[in-house]
Amino acid sequence: MIPYGRQDIDDADITAVVEVLKSDFITQGPAVPRFEAALSDWCGVPHAVAMNSATSALHVAYLALGLGPGDEFWTAPVTFVATANAALYCGAEVRFVDIDPVTYTLDLDRLEAMLVVAEAEGRLPKIVAPVHLAGQSCDMARLAELARRYGFRVVEDASHSIGAFFGNAPVGDCRFSDICVFSFHPVKIITTAEGGAATTRDPELAQKIELLRSHGVTRDPALMRNEPHGGWYYEQVALGYNYRMTDLQAALGASQMARLAGFIEARHARRAVYDEQLRGLPLQLPHQAEGQRSALHLYPVLVTQDAPLDRRALFDALRAAGIGVNMHYLPVYRQPWYVEHGFPQDECPVAEDYYARALSIPLYATLSEADQAQVIATLHRLLC
Ligand SMILES: *Cc1c(COP(=O)(O)O)cnc(C)c1O
Repeated sequence: MIPYGRQDIDDADITAVVEVLKSDFITQGPAVPRFEAALSDWCGVPHAVAMNSATSALHVAYLALGLGPGDEFWTAPVTFVATANAALYCGAEVRFVDIDPVTYTLDLDRLEAMLVVAEAEGRLPKIVAPVHLAGQSCDMARLAELARRYGFRVVEDASHSIGAFFGNAPVGDCRFSDICVFSFHPVKIITTAEGGAATTRDPELAQKIELLRSHGVTRDPALMRNEPHGGWYYEQVALGYNYRMTDLQAALGASQMARLAGFIEARHARRAVYDEQLRGLPLQLPHQAEGQRSALHLYPVLVTQDAPLDRRALFDALRAAGIGVNMHYLPVYRQPWYVEHGFPQDECPVAEDYYARALSIPLYATLSEADQAQVIATLHRLLC
């Protein structure tokens, strides 16, 4: 089966991990700061905090911004469940804002209309979390403008998006957001096995995130409530979660960061082949947003009405032909847990249409020419 995505681990990556295993520190050593410095450098942002997953990073990002019971948290429904789940961990009220039918990211017209109503009702969101679906952002400059006008904070779920650019600047520079979160799960652009990170320009937010990622414990006298009792002394000043990344993972991450530009290049080369060779089929191909360079985590195609097969039949036929297609995502509010907790089912018609017609075809840095040709030939055979 040709998978829809997979990691690329080379000998340098393996050597980097083995070196940590032979060293004095397999956690809380020098590899985590080294990985964080590589992330900061790439993103052009002063603070990057590595964690054991993007889910953890989202959770502490929301907490650092003060999200709590009674607060509204808004995000897109076409995302992995973690974007919304992490806000529920904080006790927030989650609402879903429909996606745009062309970019599949937050529909900012819809968001603005909802903000007008929410302002009149006195329940504006505390945080809006755009999701950079497939590796491309919504119009972050416009979102930042809305954030200023309506007083909400912005956390980017950039789990699909390390290596992407918005304008001339890398995603993660937080020019238009408070915090940006990346995932390093093996299907994403770079990997640390499990892993994630939060970036921010704000030193106070960075400090809060660092405390929460650990046990809320500090050895810095400036952060303590009392005079240190002696050289052994530390204080717990926040309720942390131990969401730390190990040095084994961070060494892998730092090694992968050196390869990031190449991974993105390779994805773009394969995207160009799909764009060229799938044209003319009854498929809506991914939109290339002006002024952006996508990280191309996914290549979602939407089956059009005139296709001889519907999405489900096409999905099954592709799987039967050894093509490991996937679907990203069932709108989160339709997950049984959300249904059981009373989330409205009828507020996001575009997400519904996307769910009815989308599938993700294989795209990753090491997808071979022969395998990609097989994906293309199979699509032609099934859809012509
Ligand atoms: C993968 C993913 C996450 C969660 O990432 P983990 O590192 O597995 O916790 C969150 N949001 C989106 C959009 C993702 O794709």
